[in-house]
Amino acid sequence: MKRYIFVLLCVGLSVFSADAQRKEVYTHRTYTTVAGNRHEIHIPQVKGFNVYKGDFHVHTAYSDGQVTPAGRVDEAWRDGLDILAITDHLEGRSGERRFFKVVAPYNKNGKPTRQIVAGSAKMPKNGVDPGIKADFNAIHREAEVQVRSKGYNMLLVKGCEMARNKEKLGHYNALFITDARKVYNYDLKVAFKNAHEQGGIIIHNHPGNINRYNTEWLKEVYSAGMIDGVEVANGYRYYPYMTTRCIKDKLTMFGNTDAHGQTATQYLDNGQLRTMTLVLAKELTEEAIKEAILKRRTIAYSGGDLIGEESWLKELLNASVDCRLVNEDKKAGKRTYRLTNLSSFAYRFRRGKTIYELLPFKSITFSFGKDKKTGKLMAPKLHVENMWVADYKHPTIEFEIDK
Ligand SMILES: [Zn+2]
Ligand SMILES: [Zn+2]
Repeated sequence: MKRYIFVLLCVGLSVFSADAQRKEVYTHRTYTTVAGNRHEIHIPQVKGFNVYKGDFHVHTAYSDGQVTPAGRVDEAWRDGLDILAITDHLEGRSGERRFFKVVAPYNKNGKPTRQIVAGSAKMPKNGVDPGIKADFNAIHREAEVQVRSKGYNMLLVKGCEMARNKEKLGHYNALFITDARKVYNYDLKVAFKNAHEQGGIIIHNHPGNINRYNTEWLKEVYSAGMIDGVEVANGYRYYPYMTTRCIKDKLTMFGNTDAHGQTATQYLDNGQLRTMTLVLAKELTEEAIKEAILKRRTIAYSGGDLIGEESWLKELLNASVDCRLVNEDKKAGKRTYRLTNLSSFAYRFRRGKTIYELLPFKSITFSFGKDKKTGKLMAPKLHVENMWVADYKHPTIEFEIDK
């Protein structure tokens, strides 16, 4: 036996060394192919709708981000997304200033060309809005080339962000637009109108604390129907009062990263899925996704929490978790159910003071006895701690059995 192993080792070593000698360059392969690097997020169909994962707010190096449009596309694909909207700032484009520095030697006097800033920077003394000279659509074209050349099955939504910091009006994304340059106007109300005329929608980004939201200007734009949706979650921040507001005013809820740096360092490297908006739609087309958004079939995901309208959260949980009756003890008046999580999201259930975490693709069993008041057998119902339906409110959801 020992001799046999010795012979095998010799043959193995000689084959290996002969092979290594033949090669002039040796490549260390740490993985097999680059095609296998997408982090798949599985969510079963909900009421006949596919659940698409989107991020409707990221920045590139053309405004104040650190990643190119092609880099954002690769990253979104790797993070498991189906939809990406690049929403560079129409104003505050520090990226341009950096590029001008690089090309400065081409200028006559060797100095960077002065950046033309519109919007949040002060209106020029002559009162004439300089508009935007940069070709914002080129950013989206770069991203489109990447999606096509890599063959990603991903929908790109054209967008841009508008901010009025000095005026304290807030930040807004225009989405599903056709021409970002034509959206721009110093007066945000005109810009909102421009976006709507292109078939676009406006969402209120990172709304901050409640006092900020209560300004006269905000009340006016909200009541005039200029706002279609709200980022109830931006990165790891969640604005509970805005969920209540969205339900009351019939606004669409979004969860976006607002990524400026690389998303991996904030999310996947820390074992977290990136903040995203789940869109319940029939197919992955701009038309179908926009229709779903306008009908408010969205759920925001941020840091393990799911935020949305109670009816859709109930459907999502029942689609994700299979509930089977596994034992019935008639004498003791008790039924036992096994819950199996068929989705990539973890669910946290509370019974009394105990929290049970049902991890992705794991099972847990729960027993339900008789209701002390009615004497009837209780239905399998649990309080879901990581779902949010209003200001600090979590739903109690009943499971469909043996579906
Ligand atoms: Zn912003
Ligand atoms: Zn932003």
